[in-house]
Amino acid sequence: QGQGEVTKWVCPGPSLLVLFCHGQLLPWLRAEVWLGPEGAWDQARGPGGAGPCQDSTMLISFSTDELYNETVAKAFLQFYEHTAQVVWNQFMEATWNYVTNITNKNREEMLLKDMERSQHTLYFGTRAHLFKIDDFQDPDVKRMLSKLQNVYKAALPKDELQEYNQILAYMKTTYSMAQVCLSEGPCLPLEPDLEEIMATSRDQEELLWAWQGWRDAVGLQVRMTFERYVQLSNKAAKLNGYKDMGAMWRSAYESDTLERDVEQLYEELQPLYLNLHTYVRRALYRFYGPQLINLRGPIPAHVLGNMWAQSWVSILDLVLPFPEKPPEDVTRIMRGQVRPKKMFQEAEKFFTSLGLLSTPPEFWKNSMMERPTDGREVECHASAWDFYNGEDFRIKKCTEVTIEDLLSIFHQMGHIQYFLQYKNLSVIFRTGANPAFEEAVGSVITLSASSHSQLLTRGLLSQEEVNVLMSIALEMVAFIPFAYLVDLFRWKVFDGTIQKAVYNQEWWNLRLKYQGLCPPIPRTEDDFDPGAKFHISASMPYIRYFFSLVLQFQFHEALCKASGHVGPLHRCNIYNSKNAGKLLEDVLKLGSSKPWPEVLQKITGETKVSTKALMTYFKPLLNWLVTENVRHGEILGWPDFSCTFGNLILIPPPFQPQTLPRATTAGSHRYTARSGLPPPPPLPSAPLSHPPPWARP
Ligand SMILES: [Zn+2]
Repeated sequence: QGQGEVTKWVCPGPSLLVLFCHGQLLPWLRAEVWLGPEGAWDQARGPGGAGPCQDSTMLISFSTDELYNETVAKAFLQFYEHTAQVVWNQFMEATWNYVTNITNKNREEMLLKDMERSQHTLYFGTRAHLFKIDDFQDPDVKRMLSKLQNVYKAALPKDELQEYNQILAYMKTTYSMAQVCLSEGPCLPLEPDLEEIMATSRDQEELLWAWQGWRDAVGLQVRMTFERYVQLSNKAAKLNGYKDMGAMWRSAYESDTLERDVEQLYEELQPLYLNLHTYVRRALYRFYGPQLINLRGPIPAHVLGNMWAQSWVSILDLVLPFPEKPPEDVTRIMRGQVRPKKMFQEAEKFFTSLGLLSTPPEFWKNSMMERPTDGREVECHASAWDFYNGEDFRIKKCTEVTIEDLLSIFHQMGHIQYFLQYKNLSVIFRTGANPAFEEAVGSVITLSASSHSQLLTRGLLSQEEVNVLMSIALEMVAFIPFAYLVDLFRWKVFDGTIQKAVYNQEWWNLRLKYQGLCPPIPRTEDDFDPGAKFHISASMPYIRYFFSLVLQFQFHEALCKASGHVGPLHRCNIYNSKNAGKLLEDVLKLGSSKPWPEVLQKITGETKVSTKALMTYFKPLLNWLVTENVRHGEILGWPDFSCTFGNLILIPPPFQPQTLPRATTAGSHRYTARSGLPPPPPLPSAPLSHPPPWARP
């Protein structure tokens, strides 16, 4: 593009001048602009001189048609590209510095770079609206401009944007730095200590201590801020033309039927979840007894092996179908032999075995693979980072040598692979086809990595195989309702259906309705239990994980087919398959340059997210669970029970008969009509004095 075209639309806008004068744009860019062909400005008048920073009378005017045609649009996008790479890179760098070393100075620097990024977004977003996109020919240009029009929080007035950024940083940092203190002795962070208690302790008082302590340490602290966060989020969304923040988040899926679609997917999966829930409930009953577990009621939320009861794989030992044939204890084998870095190398090996890209040396140099031991405060929640310069990609994770962390590393390395594949696209397209695609890439690999296909017999379903499928179900099937309700909750908060006076009560209503869980101790509106989940305190949308869960099985099925796999889906391992790798690579390369149904079609031949592959994968386990549940005369779910919430009793909605599994023996799933309010399920005696007198070994 000629210099003239670049300068024409740059000069008239005053806000970019602000950016030039106070920002850190590339030197060449300064020269490019200050030495425009009109000769109106020169370098002497540029930054630092008495030039246009103080003087806007030099602006040149153009007619609208001349300024906003398709040729200019292309130059505009090119200029956006160059500047965005710099601005975003600096923002990522500053954010990384903060989350890997939480100090006030680093926080200020991050907030500053965030403001610069917002100014940049706003400048280009505002102008992207001025082009008459409908008249343009090039579909990429149209798609890029329409994506640029969404400026997100940058739409807020400056003082409110500053307040919003402060709030976001406060909530996330409160979460990252929270600790629960023993009455005498050390204070424990979530990772690894509290998580380890939740995963390995079988002492209900100890579990309750960690569960309650974490919610006191985070939820209570962010509640007041969260209310303001909701207001400002909605204001930003409205300024972008959405009715509320939930609608703005959902717009990432380019679908008008998202809410209906997700509810339908959930209903299709519900029989699988209910059968798992019912089976696990009996196993917990066997272990903890009738004082804690009611065989027909919801399960108390603290005994499922996880702080949020979102994955139950840590209680595999309590629920193993065939305890005499336990799966290999990979964690035990890895301990002492393996360093965290080796775990990343293992994941890398899987990707390269498919013919996919290997990570550049910068990745190994710059990533944070373990919690630092030099006293730095860090945000431990695992994440993968693209620094938008085509060479710097990093993972931040406080790795523990466990099988769960190994699988989580596969997941994070999937993000990195996506970054690597789309690094040559415009920054506008450097995201997944939709957010769920980004989450599904690494997870689809974990399906192969945990298939243990060499252990599985080729004939009938073996006992070992049921055990393996059970462990995968405890990770993935148990996650289904949680992955859905986190954003169901926030969508209702943002659209006002859930008012701030009942945040916590409604959170537990959803936890009861979908997960079949009760709080282990009475909760009140002083508590704010949703805030004890990272993505809520960090303002990160969650429905991507629900879609991704379904999608990864669709991907898995397609990749297995490409690899030539025959036989049951759960026995497929695509390791070493260049054909599967090629299929994956072809869609990863597209980034978000095409609407996601097109991308989905390329890989699976289908244009819709479907639960079929997931249900196929777990069909052998579902059959086994149904037989087992029928044998015990179980009642699926918790139709007659509720939880106490303060002085209230939460009432679960009636089940929809069509969502129940059909493969059951007649008469075994009768539903007792609810007569009046049922008694609440038994709770552990009195709430514990906090903290209790126990010491970690
Ligand atoms: Zn992820």
